Amino acid sequence: MSATLIDGKARAAALRAEVATGVAAFVAAHGRQPGLTVVLVGDDPASAVYVGSKGKATREAGMISGEHRLPASTSEADLLALVTRLNRDPEVDGILVQMPLPAHIDSDRVIAVIDPAKDVDGLHPINTGLLVSGRPGLVPCTPSGCLMLIEDAIGTIAGAEAVVIGRSILVGKPMAALLLNKSATVTIAHSRTRDLAAHVTRADIVVAAVGIPGMVQGEWIKPGACVIDVGINRIALPDGKSRLVGDVDFDSAVTRAGWITPVPGGVGPMTIACLLANTLSAATARAAT
Ligand code: NDP
Repeated sequence: MSATLIDGKARAAALRAEVATGVAAFVAAHGRQPGLTVVLVGDDPASAVYVGSKGKATREAGMISGEHRLPASTSEADLLALVTRLNRDPEVDGILVQMPLPAHIDSDRVIAVIDPAKDVDGLHPINTGLLVSGRPGLVPCTPSGCLMLIEDAIGTIAGAEAVVIGRSILVGKPMAALLLNKSATVTIAHSRTRDLAAHVTRADIVVAAVGIPGMVQGEWIKPGACVIDVGINRIALPDGKSRLVGDVDFDSAVTRAGWITPVPGGVGPMTIACLLANTLSAATARAAT
């Protein structure tokens, strides 16, 4: 048996097209484009690439892309002042502060200052609380995209056994909350979990968000399960080149799973598409108040 590959690239393209249609309707109704502003502090090359691709995708969806690139020496007070200005700017619907921030800045404090209505990363404690309460709010983009891929693959989530490996605020915890809100029976595994294999073996849905290349073994996977690999790990090859791999040992898992996301081309493209969807939702919600 070989799993059906989940095509995150195609699903993300469809979602981006849906957002672009929604943006056109928003412009017709409100006479302005929704706006997403990204703040980057420092010159981390990977972050700079992410910010560049977010800006391009924002413009392609018909929205206004704002960017503030600040030096690594920026003080926390100056960053908080900028976020406060963006909170007040009526043209800005979404604010994303690119993580990680330099060590001298307290990222929790920065996130807490973002207006929850503009928090398109879904990391503000108010949005976290809304998610856990099962109420509408802005949901972190990566788990939101994973949920779409799972629903497309298996249809009904209610009653399924789900194992989420990883408990970060960005991926694992919101993923578990989303699955619980869909009435899955959810187990959250982490670095202190005893016998991870025994948990994974029971799961109809496995979401791996760890950051360890190939740690989830194919033999752990329940035949027919839906396997979502969030991990993005760059590994060195003997020829001096490198390649991206996930947290799941793809070659062994693909022989047992019912559905599986490849890395790259699975979860990754959904993250930016969901960011655009969050920005349109934020703009629509703000326009209605
Ligand atoms: P974090 O480092 O914040 O969290 C990793 C989690 O994995 C922690 O909860 C940790 O447990 C757990 N963990 C570590 N070792 C083990 C182990 N041996 N067994 C079980 N659990 C373990 O990472 P993120 O959640 O931010 O990201 C996870 C992965 O997803 C990374 O590879 C990252 O690059 C990728 N990613 C991909 C995105 C995409 O768009 N595709 C977006 C965001 C992330 P503990 O809490 O106990 O330390």
